[in-house]
Amino acid sequence: MIKTSYSDQPCERCGSKKAIIIIDKVITAVSARGAKIEYSQIVCTNIVCQKEFDSKLAEKIQKNEAIKLKRAEEKAARKAQSKIL
Ligand SMILES: [Zn+2]
Repeated sequence: MIKTSYSDQPCERCGSKKAIIIIDKVITAVSARGAKIEYSQIVCTNIVCQKEFDSKLAEKIQKNEAIKLKRAEEKAARKAQSKIL
């Protein structure tokens, strides 16, 4: 079930109203039968603004992944070099 309410604070990027989307999820797994978790997500009601935010977030995640990959490669390279020496 999804409930939507509105935040009192306007969006810091565009000044539009912000919506709080509250998602109720019922966990159906045997170990947690009937357990309910609720999580909320604050989104901007301005679609353009929210889209920009989403793409920036995706970019950030991608950058972080790239850094992680680079570090792993460097580590592997160092390991390989130490074997030669
Ligand atoms: Zn906004």
